[in-house]
Amino acid sequence: MSQARSSKSSDFIRDIVNEDMKTGKHQGRVATRFPPEPNGYPHIGHAKSICLNFGISLQYGGTCNLRMDDTDPAGESMEYVESLIRDVKWLGFDWGDRLYYASDYYEKLYQYAVTLIKRGKAYVCSLSADEIREYRGTFTEPGKESPFRDRSVEESLDLFTRMRAGEFEDGTHVLRARIDMASPNITMRDPVMYRIKKETHYRTGDTWCIYPMYDFAHCLSDSIEGITHSICTLEFENNRPLYDWFLDQLQVDHHPQQIEFARLNLSYTVMSKRKLIELVEKGIARGWDDPQMPTISGMRRRGYTPEAIRDFCERIGVAKNDSLVEMAFLENCVREDLNEESPRVMAVLRPLRVVIDNYPEGRVEEFDCPYHPQKPEMGSRKVPFSRELYIEQEDFMENPPKKYYRLAPGREVRLRYGYFVKCVNVVKDPNTGEVIEIHCTFDPETKSGFAPDGRKVDATIHWVSAAHSLPAEVRLYDRLFRVANPLREGTDFIEFLNPKSVEILMNCRIEPSMKETVPGDKYQFERLGYFCTDPDSSANIIVFNRTVTLRDTWAKIVEKKKA
Ligand code: ATP
Ligand code: MG
Repeated sequence: MSQARSSKSSDFIRDIVNEDMKTGKHQGRVATRFPPEPNGYPHIGHAKSICLNFGISLQYGGTCNLRMDDTDPAGESMEYVESLIRDVKWLGFDWGDRLYYASDYYEKLYQYAVTLIKRGKAYVCSLSADEIREYRGTFTEPGKESPFRDRSVEESLDLFTRMRAGEFEDGTHVLRARIDMASPNITMRDPVMYRIKKETHYRTGDTWCIYPMYDFAHCLSDSIEGITHSICTLEFENNRPLYDWFLDQLQVDHHPQQIEFARLNLSYTVMSKRKLIELVEKGIARGWDDPQMPTISGMRRRGYTPEAIRDFCERIGVAKNDSLVEMAFLENCVREDLNEESPRVMAVLRPLRVVIDNYPEGRVEEFDCPYHPQKPEMGSRKVPFSRELYIEQEDFMENPPKKYYRLAPGREVRLRYGYFVKCVNVVKDPNTGEVIEIHCTFDPETKSGFAPDGRKVDATIHWVSAAHSLPAEVRLYDRLFRVANPLREGTDFIEFLNPKSVEILMNCRIEPSMKETVPGDKYQFERLGYFCTDPDSSANIIVFNRTVTLRDTWAKIVEKKKA
């Protein structure tokens, strides 16, 4: 696997690493990690963290570990581990042989906890969860000390051993750090280190019934792995003193530096795994890899490329304050990447039958059409042309308004890569009055796409040969939510779903060059956008997802509204 290129633009985290390299703080070593909890599929927010952690390690010739931060049996599973492995790889990053699991450290962590008890730095507290919350105090009031705070070392050791042995029920005891109930930082008010949870863990099974809390497990996992820069999101800023406290009290060999950055928020979608799980469980999404999901797997299925996602992550940068990034920006990164790489082909999404009256029946011509106008090295394919074609319904109007330049009765247009055709007749459904077929004549002198007499046409439209084209289903995706920020105080985010987030067109026709397409293939359908072959394709019908439109249509709508 080839590693993705590393980011060269600087940011405050790279400034810190630079400085540490100069001063030799970690003996010139850079070791980062990406530490997901395997309780959901990774999303575009994770991609930001992945690009940052792996990007920095690549830039400084260091290492980046992939660590499953699996210290809570609830909701974790092997399926999620597999999705993380697959998606980090797909994004182009390589952790070598450094795939780790926090659950592999359970015994070590337990021993660290015992050490803290022995040093009088931790105690077993038998308050209920509600009482612990009450005793904790608030931002303005100091907390109250637990009546169990002065338990003897022996008693705490005994209770902790028995907690591990499964003698107590969930919620009856916890292990807490003995720090300072009056600390202005609530995180430091004797935080819980271990709780009893009689649940089966997807890796350790029923070996354990006590599980370490994030704050205790994370700093020590980092230390065990010799991490130098432990990069996490801003909500852990208040936890940093605790991160350092555990490592200081235990006098570990490696004391990594925790550095916080602003998480990615993206408009018109949600990213918390809890919300994504809800979309999956309620059947609103067809699965984690539904092309509407902001998950890496959804984006892959939709046709986004790893290059585009990495480019996006690099361009949004790394900052210290929270912001909302426009979905349009991500889409533009995708569009720019696809514009370079995608072969151009023709597909008709809403077909209207066209008969060319003066084209001989049974005659078929093959036009040689380049796959990319600027890239001859991408080659070309043959596109059959015959008497009966399909064009896009919206490329014909019986009574065109001003500024409509496409096909209309008596009007001539150019067929992409082919002849000029002129509409001479319209056939309608006698009952509905709907146009069901149009008749044209073609000018055999215009095969080059130009008329020898110099006459011009105002439009070029795409088409496929009726008899040669293949049936296809095309799924047009739009934004998942109607509003930029669906997470609003006092409302359910489900209310803001976009009812038109997907439109499925079952009767599309595509040019025959796509016959052998396989899921994941990407194309530009001329004049329509970028599309990607979906795994739902079968021998009978090829299914495509629209990855992104050719232009930012949302910007146009906003402009119109402003005007
Ligand atoms: P979620 O809110 O989606 O459940 P999480 O932070 O609980 O996210 P983790 O699996 O713990 O998910 O995250 C793994 C890593 O990815 C962490 O280092 C976390 O800080 C980072 N991360 C998660 N979401 C984002 C985001 N939106 N932007 C940047 N980094 C993120
Ligand atoms: Mg988490």
